[in-house]
Amino acid sequence: MARILITSAIPYINGIKHLGNLVGSQLPADLYARYNRMRGHEVMFICATDEHGTPAELAAAKAGKPVAEYCAEMHGIQAEIARGFRLSFDHFGRSSSERNHRLTQHMARKLGENGLIAEVVEKQVFSVADNRFLPDRYIEGTCPNCGYEKARGDQCENCTKQLDPTDLINPRSAVSGSTELEVRETKHLYLRQRTLKEKLGEWIDSKTDWPVLTTSIAKKWLNDGEGLQDRGITRDLSWGVPAQFEGAPWTGMEGKVFYVWFDAPIEYIAGTAEWADANGLDDTAWERWWRTDKGADDVTYVQFMGKDNVPFHTLSFPATIIGSEEPWKLVDYIKSFNYLNYDGGQFSTSQGRGVFMDQALSILPADYWRWWLLSHAPENSDSEFTWENFQASVNKDLADVLGNFVSRVTKFCRSKFGEVIPEGGQTDERAATLVEELETRVRAYEGHMEAMEIRKAAGELRAIWVAGNEYLQSAAPWAVFKDDPERAAAMVRLGLNLVRLYAVLSEPFIPDASARMLAAMGTEDRTWPGAIAEALAALPAGHAFETPEVLFRKIADEEREDWQGRFAGVRT
Ligand SMILES: [Zn+2]
Repeated sequence: MARILITSAIPYINGIKHLGNLVGSQLPADLYARYNRMRGHEVMFICATDEHGTPAELAAAKAGKPVAEYCAEMHGIQAEIARGFRLSFDHFGRSSSERNHRLTQHMARKLGENGLIAEVVEKQVFSVADNRFLPDRYIEGTCPNCGYEKARGDQCENCTKQLDPTDLINPRSAVSGSTELEVRETKHLYLRQRTLKEKLGEWIDSKTDWPVLTTSIAKKWLNDGEGLQDRGITRDLSWGVPAQFEGAPWTGMEGKVFYVWFDAPIEYIAGTAEWADANGLDDTAWERWWRTDKGADDVTYVQFMGKDNVPFHTLSFPATIIGSEEPWKLVDYIKSFNYLNYDGGQFSTSQGRGVFMDQALSILPADYWRWWLLSHAPENSDSEFTWENFQASVNKDLADVLGNFVSRVTKFCRSKFGEVIPEGGQTDERAATLVEELETRVRAYEGHMEAMEIRKAAGELRAIWVAGNEYLQSAAPWAVFKDDPERAAAMVRLGLNLVRLYAVLSEPFIPDASARMLAAMGTEDRTWPGAIAEALAALPAGHAFETPEVLFRKIADEEREDWQGRFAGVRT
């Protein structure tokens, strides 16, 4: 039994995510977690909401709520949707938790003690009326480049020029509109990543099994241009982890917080501590996943994320871990994804283009989405969601192949033998050939799942379903029954055992359908198959079952057209 720690990139708090976000981290991480649990491994699967930073503050202000209240509410909504998609987190934490506050400050203190934090005095715009500094989006003014009057402090939306807040002409506060602004000096903490460049480079070079997509992104940031830069890890904001705290190896950081990108990945660890707290366990329970001096040396740690998150996970977060000089677990494997596009363009949160997670669940159950998204995961290149493809895939794979198989074999049995596994007869050569094919395919499926080759795994699973359908079609127990009911009984017995086997193999992809198939077969036997012949004898003659309702319904053309129109854009 192995011990596998799995984290999904943590979604930002300000709003409901779209299907492209889901398939870029949480959903494939869930597939991998479910698979490893089915194989009997010990799994810890952690995700959380990423709650700090200016976008959370601004979204809360727009909603007219205190930021803490806004985040608590949005966390509840995201957690509910995650349950709807059957994301099987051991814990869905919050980066604003007390645990993360303490651990972030602990990491910063260690980095400071190890000489890896520099104190840098910078000039920033201060609003007298608001009594605060105005970082990035908190300041507006006229663009010095194009004259656009509503340019933001970090960038002009009109001409896209990158700006410094001090570049703006007629600057004003985005909070109050006040023009009573001054340039004041303010101190910030910088993580001296350049000092860690060699250690990070050696660590990345040791990861010979990582995909080139991952290592090339990391090496580009490490070496291109002037190479890895020191990074500001604090901001003049009030919402976040306070940068001044008891035991801090610096002074004068009152009223400042750590930058959201510093504390967010630390939440992977803090989230595991939150899991222990939520389950009434002590620190040893989570430390054995994260501290190599406290039992985590046999843990395999896998992270799932979109490609845009790779630099932070290959450089910034490891810099924190390595720089702490404490025995925290570093990631063993990073599974990163390209983008999912939507119907000839991109998903757009601001324009409401594409299907968002709550909307998806309002029109079809989770399994339909899980199957399509995973079997079309953007692994080696970007992939595209189209309604035609979604409809075809659901109708063919789920309804015609798997659903139809289950329906045919159970209904036929009910009509000829009743709702029990029939006895008597011998299976023939055709069955032996099927068992042989499944032996090869199931082992291939396991290989793809272990390698996190998600599309290949989905393809193999589909082929496993197809093999059962083809067997039933060619064995034709309904024709055999007239002359040789015992031989037909043997075929049906095999078919009903296939239903149980399919339920077990399919669980990571379509957990609800899997549970319904097992319930219909009247069994809780979720044993992963060793020898296939043995697995196909799990339900003995005389065992009672129930003929299930339709497992998957087909999507009609009119529905597809209706949805196509509804999700074309401009969400209000
Ligand atoms: Zn401009």
